[in-house]
Amino acid sequence: MKKAFLSLIGLLLFVQAISQTAVAGKTLNNKNDVLGEKPALVVGIVIDQMRYDYITRFYSKYSEDGFKRLINEGFSCENANYNYIPTYTAVGHTSIYTGTTPMYHGIISNNWYDKYLKKTIYCVDDDNYSTIGTNSDKGKKSPYRMLATTITDELHLHQNMKGKVIGIALKDRASILPAGHTANAAYWYDGSSGGNWITSSFYMRELPTWVQQFNSIQKAKKYLSKPWKTLYDAKTYTESMVDDNPYEGKLIGETAPVFPHDLPKLMKNNGGLELIKATPFGNSLTTDFVKAAIIGEALGQDAITDFLTISYSSTDYIGHKYGVDAKETEDTYLRLDSDLASLFHFLDEKVGKGNYTLFLTADHAAVQVPSYLQSLDIPAGYFDAEGFTTFINKVVKDRFKSDSLIENISNFQLFLNKEKIKKLQLDVHKITQVIVDEAINFEGVYKVVSAETLQGTNFTNGALQALQNGYNQKFSGDVLLITNPATIIGTHTGTTHGSGYSYDTHVPLYFYGKGIKHGKSKRYIPIVDIAPTLANLLQISFPNATTGAVIEEVLE
Ligand code: ZN
Ligand code: ZN
Ligand code: ZN
Repeated sequence: MKKAFLSLIGLLLFVQAISQTAVAGKTLNNKNDVLGEKPALVVGIVIDQMRYDYITRFYSKYSEDGFKRLINEGFSCENANYNYIPTYTAVGHTSIYTGTTPMYHGIISNNWYDKYLKKTIYCVDDDNYSTIGTNSDKGKKSPYRMLATTITDELHLHQNMKGKVIGIALKDRASILPAGHTANAAYWYDGSSGGNWITSSFYMRELPTWVQQFNSIQKAKKYLSKPWKTLYDAKTYTESMVDDNPYEGKLIGETAPVFPHDLPKLMKNNGGLELIKATPFGNSLTTDFVKAAIIGEALGQDAITDFLTISYSSTDYIGHKYGVDAKETEDTYLRLDSDLASLFHFLDEKVGKGNYTLFLTADHAAVQVPSYLQSLDIPAGYFDAEGFTTFINKVVKDRFKSDSLIENISNFQLFLNKEKIKKLQLDVHKITQVIVDEAINFEGVYKVVSAETLQGTNFTNGALQALQNGYNQKFSGDVLLITNPATIIGTHTGTTHGSGYSYDTHVPLYFYGKGIKHGKSKRYIPIVDIAPTLANLLQISFPNATTGAVIEEVLE
């Protein structure tokens, strides 16, 4: 009896084991019925410096398969905004992927004055590592200054470090920060030594074969071997200014900022293979490399979710050079649209339509060229940063009889020399108040706030809330400035970004693919909501310092 009972149990176990093996896929599906089926691959796309209205201005010229595919089949958030100052590249990418602002993630700018080290540092520099892929020092990087986890880190943690996370961008910071602390790899472009895609020893000791092969075909050189002409007849670019106008910058060696831009000839005096960054072909090169990564790393090929973070950087270099209303900018977006169409098609083919989830946004937008706005009698201007430094140093010296009380002025922030102030037995609060009271008188300054005020008050809207969200008590300065709208530092050609005004904060935001509804929202959505929305879609933890919320209407 006992023996028969045991063999019955044995038989049951055997049957169970067989059925588990035979219907492993079924078991997986049952689990997914409860948790929702997960995408095989998540693709994050950030377009550097893309304004929301680049969608609407060029809409009639976009194909059905690029940006419009996201609008027609995915979910559009028409009122997505950055909710902090300063709107710079490193800060934008970090905030998207950490779901929080500099107040918590610690990336307060691209470069900033480190008051402990007493020198200006770059967000992803890390001398503990070496370059992998070239002999330059462009690979000595890591994400260690980013203090929070990213959605990509949380995916790794949730999957017990299984699944691949790969970051790709021409710019190191736009590749490293999104891919997080636990990335399998982050790659960026080094035009200074052969136009290779490189990485840091933080990630690996040697480039994978697929990267070496990609580098060996020297694609950057090929793209730069012919002139940059417009994709369509330039006469049809009626959404933009005349090609030759005083608001556009010129490449060294060009007499006018006009098509065709003779890239083979211009290379020599414009950084050699670095020049590709300031052409739409930098985006094409990025797309080529992304496709090679999808194949080389077999992304999205199994049940464990992978995450690919892509940033298109050329749009930013071109915006800085030519501005918002240039034919060069329009042509760049039309070419990017076709790069995106080819990437989406590639994903359909290799990962499978419906197997991946994608989002597309920008790391900040940009202002229309201030000198152009001035020509239309719209208030705009150029902030005299040098003049401001002289002015405020004089104010402090006249009042407190010392010319070394201000240690650094950068990113519209003043850092006081606390040691000197202590030594001279001066009152730091008094000095701060004098600076706040006087700085407001300088041309172009709209608001001046002390760190003390930001620490003691909870701002709930407007510019002061944005300033507060961007303020990090540990790293930020002692006095912070906001300039007038459309007032930038720089030359009278091309544009820049960094403010909390809507021209810098309003960006496109689209979700598409597995788990995403079709629709649109006109509600104000802060950019920090992207990461928690993805976390909910993937049913994983939020990045650890998240301040955003799930965008419910996006998800099925
Ligand atoms: Zn940027
Ligand atoms: Zn032009
Ligand atoms: Zn920029």
